[in-house]
Amino acid sequence: MRIIQYNDIVEQVSILCQEANVELGEDVMNAFQQALQTEKSETGRVVIEQLMENAEVAVKEYMPMCQDTGTAVFIVEMGQECLIAGGTLTDAINEGVREGYEAGHLRHSIVKDPLGRKNTGDNTPAIVHIEYVAGDSLTLHMTAKGGGAENMSDLKMLKPSDGLEGIKQYILDVVKVAGPNACPPLVVGIGIGGNFERCAYLAKKSLFRPIGERHREAEVADLEEDLMAEINRLGIGPQGMGGSTTALDVKIEVEACHIASLPVAVNLNCHASRHKQVVL
Ligand code: SF4
Repeated sequence: MRIIQYNDIVEQVSILCQEANVELGEDVMNAFQQALQTEKSETGRVVIEQLMENAEVAVKEYMPMCQDTGTAVFIVEMGQECLIAGGTLTDAINEGVREGYEAGHLRHSIVKDPLGRKNTGDNTPAIVHIEYVAGDSLTLHMTAKGGGAENMSDLKMLKPSDGLEGIKQYILDVVKVAGPNACPPLVVGIGIGGNFERCAYLAKKSLFRPIGERHREAEVADLEEDLMAEINRLGIGPQGMGGSTTALDVKIEVEACHIASLPVAVNLNCHASRHKQVVL
């Protein structure tokens, strides 16, 4: 058994929160660069340039790239052969979020209960998903998930007879309804299969895959590319100002499901597609 100290997790989570909010990943910057070459609308190109400039200024000034510093969402791959000493994993993550959002002067965006709406004052609690894997390491994947794009996300229990065409139409409808409200250009995360709660998780998980990385199965990878082309024909464009870059990427995760079900979840991410990871 390998022992991982509680305080080491706190420290790494604090760094992840600050870096994620300030440094837009290379995958997103490369996607912007590529979109500049393919965007048909002049206004769309200007908006992309502004988004790139915004991301560069954020790094230079070490300030968050967007006022919405998001919900801190973690997917943890926990090795079966590691133990955490000094406290629980969830407590360590929340402590790290508390410290990171304070040290980075990041907006506190979480309310204690959805009806009373009182801010928790430290951006906790984080949303933590744990997957157990072989080995003795602990991998923390973190995203600072913006509220605007999350609000335009959707889930539907389709009928198996709706088939592939029904799935595509539903996804296009979600993106159309979102329009400018999800701060495009988007990363469109899709979960197909599982059950009601599992397909929402699959959609979220898909967003952690870097932009440009296709699904490992050819059939799913082809569907990602087809949907990307169709979404980019909708004309919503960067920041909803019109153009051919509505999505920077489409990500799909699929899983087994019940014979009577065809769950599909669409988790939209804005252009501030902030994800970082660390291995302990
Ligand atoms: S959805 Fe994204 S870009 Fe829009 S305000 Fe929220 S974090 Fe910022």
